[in-house]
Amino acid sequence: MGAEKVGAWLADFAEQIRENAAMLTDLDRQIGDADHGSNMDRGMKAVAALSPAAFADAGAYLKKAGMTLVSTVGGASGPLYGTFLMRVGGAWPAEESAEGIGAALRAGLEGIVQRGKAEVGDKTMVDALAPAVAAYDAAVGQGTQAALDAAAAACAQGRNSTTPLVARKGRASYLGERSAGTQDPGATSVTMLIEAAARTLA
Ligand SMILES: [Mg+2]
Repeated sequence: MGAEKVGAWLADFAEQIRENAAMLTDLDRQIGDADHGSNMDRGMKAVAALSPAAFADAGAYLKKAGMTLVSTVGGASGPLYGTFLMRVGGAWPAEESAEGIGAALRAGLEGIVQRGKAEVGDKTMVDALAPAVAAYDAAVGQGTQAALDAAAAACAQGRNSTTPLVARKGRASYLGERSAGTQDPGATSVTMLIEAAARTLA
């Protein structure tokens, strides 16, 4: 798989972030510091300005995209999304395969867990991404599109599951019980990332 297809993935994600920046910032206003949409939009605009064709392969492009996010997005989101993309890039398969893409997504999830130390139930992006990767693996035998569709559905379900949770990680955890009732902004944006993958990568 060349860098162009992966470039289409991140371009689609950048568009979702741009269209939903106000909504993401509003979620973050309720349980954080009101910058998730604007931060991610700035970072993804910088990523969208990269030319995928200028890179030797998809892995190199993804690593650069991750580094771009780390250097342009403040707060926790830049390092978490940046780590995700750098790890996905490091594990990206030279030959396209459902298994190879699944392994790359799992490497990205593991990077986020290592970096953020969050577990399922903490009301973070991990609540959406962990079930997405598990659903991908469960459906991998049916091919890339089916696995990505399963991942996107599980991601959205995991995102929805964050609403009643009390945050145990990140800035939202300072609110204690008051963090319950708001959907997690990071789980919301990462679902856009996986839904974009399902539209572009197969
Ligand atoms: Mg924030």
